Amino acid sequence: MPDYVFDPPPQAALAVAGSDARFPVRRVFCVGRNYADHAREMGHDPDREPPFFFTKPADAVTGAGSVPYPPLTADLHHEVELVVALGAGGADLDEAASSAAIWGWAVGIDLTRRDLQAEAKAMARPWCWAKAFDASAPCGPLLPAAGSDWRPDRGAISLAVNGETRQEGDLAQMIWRVPEIIAAASRAVALRPGDVIFTGTPAGVGPAVRGDRLAARIEGLPPLDIVLA
Ligand code: MN
Repeated sequence: MPDYVFDPPPQAALAVAGSDARFPVRRVFCVGRNYADHAREMGHDPDREPPFFFTKPADAVTGAGSVPYPPLTADLHHEVELVVALGAGGADLDEAASSAAIWGWAVGIDLTRRDLQAEAKAMARPWCWAKAFDASAPCGPLLPAAGSDWRPDRGAISLAVNGETRQEGDLAQMIWRVPEIIAAASRAVALRPGDVIFTGTPAGVGPAVRGDRLAARIEGLPPLDIVLA
C-alpha cells in the first residue's frame, strides 16, 4: 500500500442555469482557429485547415469569480468561446447524432499562456503547458438544450476587460459548425457523456493581468464574469 493519503479532488463540474444541479465534466476538448479573423490574426490561412483539437484536464474547469493568474507566463490571453457539453457519446457520429448528443451550452474562456504557446510552436513542442494549466477553463452556467430553443447558428459573442470590449464576433462566423466539430472529434476518440468542447474564439485575443475583470458573453446564454487574482 502507498504510504500517502490519496485525496482525490471533487469531480469537476459545471453549474446548471436555473438549478442546483451540477454537470460532471469527463474531459475537455478544444478546437483551434475556428473563426477566420482569429486564424488570420494568428498568422494562418483560415480556408485550408481542417479542425484540430487540443485538450485540457477536466479539473481545469472552474466557474465564475476569482481565477488565479497562472505561473510561468507574462502574457496570459483571453479567448471567449462557445462551450458545448455532451450528454451522450459514441464514435464516428454523423451530424444528426452529434446534434442529438448535446446536453447544453455555456460561455467559457480558453485561458492561454501565449508566450509559452509561441515558444512551443517555435520549437515544435506540444501546447500542453500553454493551454492545460490549473483553472485554465472558466465556464459560465450551462443552459440545458432540452426545453430550450437556443441554437448555436448565430448570436453575438464578446469579451470585455474592465468594461472595455476586446473581442467581438458572431457564432455565424465559425468555420466548422458545432455538429461538424463533434463529428470530427468522434472520429479521433469515442466521445462520452460529460465531455465538454470549447469551439474556438473570434478575433481580438489579448493579454489580461492580475486584477482584471473579464466579462464573457454569448447572446442568449448565462454570462460569465471572472477576476484574475
Ligand atoms: Mn481557444
